[in-house]
Amino acid sequence: MKNSDIVKRDLDVLWHPCTQMKDHEWLPLIPVKKGEGVWLEDFDGNRYIDAISSWWVNLFGHCHPHISGAVQQQAAELEHVILAGFSHEPVVRLSEKLVQITPPGLSRCFYTDNGSSAVEVALKMSYHYWRNTGKPEKLKFITLSNSYHGETLGTLGVGDVALYKETYKPLLMEAITVPSPDAFLREPGSSWAEHAERMFAHMEAALERHAHETAAVIVEPLVQCAGTMRMYHPVYLERLREACDRHGVHLIADEIAVGFGRTGTMFACEQAGISPDFMCLSKGLTAGYLPLATVLTHDRIYQAFYDDYATLRAFLHSHSYTGNPLACAAALATLELFERDDVIARNRELAREMGEAFAHLADHPHVGEVRQTGMVLAAEMVPDKHKPEPYPWEERRGMIVYQHALKNEALMRPLGSVVYLMPPYVITPEQIRHLARVATEGIDLATRA
Ligand SMILES: *Cc1c(COP(=O)(O)O)cnc(C)c1O
Repeated sequence: MKNSDIVKRDLDVLWHPCTQMKDHEWLPLIPVKKGEGVWLEDFDGNRYIDAISSWWVNLFGHCHPHISGAVQQQAAELEHVILAGFSHEPVVRLSEKLVQITPPGLSRCFYTDNGSSAVEVALKMSYHYWRNTGKPEKLKFITLSNSYHGETLGTLGVGDVALYKETYKPLLMEAITVPSPDAFLREPGSSWAEHAERMFAHMEAALERHAHETAAVIVEPLVQCAGTMRMYHPVYLERLREACDRHGVHLIADEIAVGFGRTGTMFACEQAGISPDFMCLSKGLTAGYLPLATVLTHDRIYQAFYDDYATLRAFLHSHSYTGNPLACAAALATLELFERDDVIARNRELAREMGEAFAHLADHPHVGEVRQTGMVLAAEMVPDKHKPEPYPWEERRGMIVYQHALKNEALMRPLGSVVYLMPPYVITPEQIRHLARVATEGIDLATRA
């Protein structure tokens, strides 16, 4: 079987995610035959380093024996069971573990089967908490500009990436949007921390004005990933936690992309020393094996729903695959690897290698900035090095980098004109340096004219 055999059949019957299907008239679709470690291999025998962890989900490489083994074992025991009225060991063990490793106070896990639905749960729970405690007027949400929380109608409503949102705007609830502390937009000469402090004034003003009608503030801690890997200083989260408490508004931390070590700590909130009221986790939760998501919250929220059935205070939300045992087994095996291999400590070395390998790009005439938070590194291509403004999206310059990378054993999929690395944690320094070379050549090609 060759690539072309699969591709032809695929294009007859599939509709791919986040894709203008007409692009595949000129852009090859790549059918993957197998994965091993950081490598993906197609049917023609070409190999690609998975530099973006297959959309940020993979943590320990493809077909990791420990996780594959755990899923196989679980598949022989119990593949799935309804989680209402029934329970199973993997979901209990996973919940105990998550309560133990997440920031203090988070003591309950509610499961869903993808990130967007986890965000929906956090939004609904927050509103429902206020309703159950006699404040039904608290029904709005505050969000940051350029934020991303998923693709469903509820999550698009609290997101702010125009490319995904604009078309559906007439269908969406309206959020209160506050300018992001995005460090790329800081004044020349000011630090990330100073910029975050200054930008917090907007949040403070929004809370003062809207707290009485607001259920929660929702943020992506430290890195706005889908918003082209824009980053900000943890002091913003410290201020936000304090202000949410003072104004009586929940804080939802969407750690779907940044959780599980991506920012250098297990959870990004740790860098600010804060506990949110709701924490959404997915993506790396199963190291890229199976769809699973969870929302953690604390006892005060839980207790506001705990009552006699007839009060109708219960959270009557569910998804068919909630708490799937195979996915929970994959998640447990993933967390075992974190402990067994001291992953967070080892990643510090890898993050340093990433920074060194890409440092030279900061001098590139068409790179506005090379930024990094832990295991996420991004180089932003700009027409004018002295202005933090991207190339017009219509030029699709990132696509040139993508195609160049494919020809050079790498899967790098820029976001607009932002080339980034978010690799599996089993990548080697040599592979990082290869990716840096390929990225540099790609950026040269993409910014030539
Ligand atoms: C990916 C992502 C989501 C949505 O998760 P899905 O599983 O794709 O629905 C939500 N929030 C953030 C920050 C994400 O990166």
